[in-house]
Amino acid sequence: MSLDPLILAMKPHYSEEDVDRFTIAIEFATEAHAGQVRKSGTPYIDHPRAVAEKLLQLRMDADTVIAGILHDVPEDTTRTLEDIEGLFGADVAFLVSGVTKVGKLKYRGLERYIENLQKMFVAMAEDVRVIIIKFCDRLHNLETLGALPREKQLRIARESIEVYAPLADRLGIGEIKGQLEDLAFPFLEPKGYAWILQTVGPEYHNLEEHMAEMVWKLRERLAQEDMPPLDLHGRRKHLYSLYKKVLRPEYQKDLRRVTDIVAVRVIMPNISGCYAALGIVHQLWKPMPGRFKDYIAQPKPNGYQSLHTTVFGPGGSLVEVQVRDQEMHDLAERGIAAHWFYNEQGKQKHTQNVSQKLSWVQELSEWKKHFDSPEQYLEDIKIDALQQHIFCFTPNGDVIDLPEGATVIDFAYHVHSDLGNGCVGGKINGNMSALDSILRSGDVVEILTDKRRKLPNRDWLQMAKTHAARSHIRRALRDEVSKL
Ligand code: MN
Repeated sequence: MSLDPLILAMKPHYSEEDVDRFTIAIEFATEAHAGQVRKSGTPYIDHPRAVAEKLLQLRMDADTVIAGILHDVPEDTTRTLEDIEGLFGADVAFLVSGVTKVGKLKYRGLERYIENLQKMFVAMAEDVRVIIIKFCDRLHNLETLGALPREKQLRIARESIEVYAPLADRLGIGEIKGQLEDLAFPFLEPKGYAWILQTVGPEYHNLEEHMAEMVWKLRERLAQEDMPPLDLHGRRKHLYSLYKKVLRPEYQKDLRRVTDIVAVRVIMPNISGCYAALGIVHQLWKPMPGRFKDYIAQPKPNGYQSLHTTVFGPGGSLVEVQVRDQEMHDLAERGIAAHWFYNEQGKQKHTQNVSQKLSWVQELSEWKKHFDSPEQYLEDIKIDALQQHIFCFTPNGDVIDLPEGATVIDFAYHVHSDLGNGCVGGKINGNMSALDSILRSGDVVEILTDKRRKLPNRDWLQMAKTHAARSHIRRALRDEVSKL
């Protein structure tokens, strides 16, 4: 009988065979890292153990959890990738090699940094689980960041907020995005952190009291109506996202204008149950006009689904209520990681080739083929891959996923490079629009072409906001020159 808390945490949710393999992996990793210590002075094995624990909390498949405990073995010990493959199979070895390739925290200038990012995107395109291990690795490094010199702290904190958190967000792993940001926040912006902590502290107290009262009332009422929720709880907004929100001009640094500092969350057994529960919520507390959002009928670009409403709660306080079913909830918290989610029966919703469904991940991995300068590359990454995205539609209803600020030209090139090269104009929701018109989520865009037009205009380079469109335009212009 093992008393290892990691094993105990795994047992209720995974098969016996998986637990056995993980037990062997823990022993193997502990032996391999024996005698090594971290900068903080603790035994090295504490780090991979913490990573594996986070992967268990996400209920990732057993191979990913095993790769998590082994992720630093090939690089830091005498044991090799071949040893790992022999003992734990090709899948685990592949994941470990993916994480290893992405590299350690050393920084050797912008060129090397970008090389590292590219490796990460390629590994991610091959198997998204690599980046999920990387997220957990980064989370634990942030938790122990205090032990590092200030310069390193800043670099790691900045990269976590600028690259890792937006990636987690685009993969829909909201919980990890929030944790990455909140851990990096005090290192990156100590003054802002102190300010928000001090400002929100007293608010929290009142709000949480109101929220607890609402949870209690709503539970009672749903029981009376014979529609018990699967879960009903309150949640606090992550600190960094609250900070970013209150700094936006419309909030004028006034926390009282933010209505989702806390939220009541209701998980219902099915979609009709969600709408019925919303009706009960509106009977108990008056909704604030204009604040109801049906993300079930119209999901957010990252696939997020829920009903959101803001109500006048106890004591006149404004409280957001979120209603969703279990699957929507799993997706909201775990996003892409939910594809490997273990349920109580030990069955696994393993979706093959998840990364192939994410066309932007594929595109990202191919970027290395064409970029002008490291600075431009980094700028493009921030806009194309990491910025908030919008959804637009072709006249046939196909969804085109574009970064905020994208124009008609970007849309044309994202549909097809020929459509881009031949375009002479566009219609947005049926209205004639200039090629540099900025698109908004939900726009239906029709591209008008002229058969005689085969070449882009050089000015379009200024109108296009995305890396993909600009590189198509440049290539078409270059090909034309070489023909002369
Ligand atoms: Mn590590």
